[in-house]
Amino acid sequence: MLPVVALVGRPNVGKSTLYNALTRSRDALVADMPGVTRDRHYGVCRLGPRPFVVVDTGGLSGSDEGIEGLTATQVRLAIEEAHLLVFVVDARDGVLPQDATILTELRRSGKPVIVVVNKTDGVDEPTALGEFASFGIAETLPMSAAHNRGVDVLVERALTHLPDERDDDPGLADQGIRVAIVGRPNAGKSTLINRLLGEERLIVSDVAGTTRDPIRVPLERDGKRFTLIDTAGVRRRARVEEAVEKFSVIKTLQSIAASQVTVVMIDARENLADQDLTLIGGAMEEGRALVIAVNKWDGMDKYARDQCMAALGRRLAFVEWAKTVFISALHGSGLSELMKAVVRAHAAATKVITSSDLTRTLEKAYEAYQPPLVRGHAPKLRYAHPGGNNPPTIIIHGSRTKHIAPAYRRYLEGFFRKRYKLEGTPIRIDFRDGE
Ligand code: GDP
Ligand code: GDP
Repeated sequence: MLPVVALVGRPNVGKSTLYNALTRSRDALVADMPGVTRDRHYGVCRLGPRPFVVVDTGGLSGSDEGIEGLTATQVRLAIEEAHLLVFVVDARDGVLPQDATILTELRRSGKPVIVVVNKTDGVDEPTALGEFASFGIAETLPMSAAHNRGVDVLVERALTHLPDERDDDPGLADQGIRVAIVGRPNAGKSTLINRLLGEERLIVSDVAGTTRDPIRVPLERDGKRFTLIDTAGVRRRARVEEAVEKFSVIKTLQSIAASQVTVVMIDARENLADQDLTLIGGAMEEGRALVIAVNKWDGMDKYARDQCMAALGRRLAFVEWAKTVFISALHGSGLSELMKAVVRAHAAATKVITSSDLTRTLEKAYEAYQPPLVRGHAPKLRYAHPGGNNPPTIIIHGSRTKHIAPAYRRYLEGFFRKRYKLEGTPIRIDFRDGE
């Protein structure tokens, strides 16, 4: 599972700015869940050789009521979930008493701490760093998050503290298709997992997993092997837990990243929420194959079903390639169709297509419709070859490809999708100029 780095510090030191520089994300997964404060942001940093989750914890004021307040509780949770704490301070303010309070808090966790002295632009760097030497933290790095200076060094240093676990270990191959089941609280994730496990013979039931990580549950169904990546925690469900812990954005991000196919569960009886769309967007951004499971389809009358389908049609048009299945996790209906959709999406996502085949298809697409002229010259597309799987990646060589408009890229995507029946998976197209 992806390791977790938490950004902690007083308000206004530049945590959000640093978060944006690390994740380069426009639409972060924001925890707008009941019981979860809104000001925590979560994203994946891919600037280094290994990705990790970044949590922007919002602010810790360091004053007594702040530490005791709800925000502080949230920050503590983030600290608990993290492998590494990045303590952000402000070079222009120097050391404030609140900083010392926060540092004590971080030290108490026993986790590695890196101090980032932000806003060093326009100040004397050695003097600024020297101010914070009293913290006694060996790794104190200068940073100008707003100018993207020092970010790469931070990533490099951070990685030295993070566990190196990869989900594409060869050993994982024989565990079948890795399926993440994600969704808002109460969508029915645990019910689904229990149903799937109860109906079919479970190969191994005792899976080791720390309380922090999502749990992997092996499943065999209709002669096919799967590994379900469970964010809800079937086993932990037995224990009474606080509402805040019931939904973990970190676990959701980790699960999507560790999966080959992501099943986003939607509650048919609730209006489609922005959070549902964000989860779908998150899976797409990670390049995961996608199946949408509309749950609680039991006991809904025709009117309610029509309403629901119309809303889905409208709002899910941007992922029309993803299969939508209507299920009842409670009664077990639609589950075979769901797992078939998972198998199909996985097959599409891992389909092997040769370079000559791709090039022929590219030629056909180009003949049928050419990219619009740019200052009198047309971008040329010459040949294509595969660039990887899950998601299927197509590398297209040509000239002036940077002038290719998003609409033309979508046209090509659609063309390739149709030709190779790539249903259930996003497609990535990379253009390269020259040979
Ligand atoms: P947060 O409250 O800790 O998340 O802080 P923000 O990221 O919102 O930043 C607070 C203010 O500091 C904003 O006005 C930023 O533009 C500014 N800021 C952030 N990073 C830098 C930096 O590296 N240099 C300078 N000069 N200003 C910065
Ligand atoms: P989770 O938070 O996503 O793991 O959701 P749960 O599996 O705990 O389900 C939340 C609630 O919805 C529970 O009361 C379930 O009994 C109920 N539920 C789950 N699936 C269905 C379903 O298919 N139909 C109906 N009617 N209720 C369901």
